[in-house]
Amino acid sequence: MLSRMKVLANVVLVFVLLVGCSAKADEPVAGEKGAAAKIEPPIAVQGAMDVEVSEFLKAMGEYKEEKHGNYSFYIGEIEGIPIVVSRTEVGMVNAAASTTLLIENYHPKAVINQGTAGGHDPDIHVFDTVIGTEVVNIGSFRSEHLDDGQGMAPEKWIHMSTKLREKDGEAKEYTTLPSDPELIEAAKRAAGEYEHGNVVEGVIGSADWWNREIDRIQWFHENFRTSGEEMEAFAVAQVTHLMDVPYLSLRTISNSEVTDDDIEDLETAGKYGAEFTIDVVKEMAK
Ligand code: SAH
Repeated sequence: MLSRMKVLANVVLVFVLLVGCSAKADEPVAGEKGAAAKIEPPIAVQGAMDVEVSEFLKAMGEYKEEKHGNYSFYIGEIEGIPIVVSRTEVGMVNAAASTTLLIENYHPKAVINQGTAGGHDPDIHVFDTVIGTEVVNIGSFRSEHLDDGQGMAPEKWIHMSTKLREKDGEAKEYTTLPSDPELIEAAKRAAGEYEHGNVVEGVIGSADWWNREIDRIQWFHENFRTSGEEMEAFAVAQVTHLMDVPYLSLRTISNSEVTDDDIEDLETAGKYGAEFTIDVVKEMAK
């Protein structure tokens, strides 16, 4: 009786192993010599709008579109480097949701959030590109109590930091979130290739906002050292931090209230930004 149970247990074990193996069909296949041939994880590049992703699709030539929910992902290669392009759609919630889907479905080795931005620094001009060494949520504020009829006092709003749960289970407060130092270095190495303006390091501010009030823009620049504002970077930085994927923010200035450029051109800035991002991706692959 005992040995019969043993045989049965072995049969079950073999069955479990077989099922377990066949379920791993999408994992690296064993090479001829028995060593597993590694499938290289892709580098992910994101843009909120078509004008911020179309240059990647052109560079890939052939690609496959996959949808998760209504978010589009384009899978291909640029000069042999595996790439997944994610059109995040505009705004913080879209950025967070699509980044989560991106990481869960494609396991990228890095996420580059890039695209257009409004300038906050009078020394940074339209078509300059900012390497976002840090990103800050400029939509996260609390106010002190004011009585009925006392009005609004945005200049007294107090910034709220973001609490993130760390790997060790502890929660930690962040005022800004950093880009990955190695990815920043790759972007700095690519900077010499950029022909449409300067490439500078700076702080990128994100919120579901498009600010055109110069005093407010200056207030952000003075209090949070922002070089520019857009609507996705902080959400992506937050999700990549929580899911432990290296992150980089790159933004090309498409409009500015604080220079005399008098240009608002998201299409051209989107193209220049994506071209620079491709150079950064090539640097990363070296
Ligand atoms: N015209 C577009 C809307 C753009 S919304 C449309 O109708 O679809 C703003 C997008 O451009 C966001 O993805 C944001 O990241 C970026 N952006 C560029 N300049 C900006 C600015 N000055 N303020 C906020 N976001 C800006």
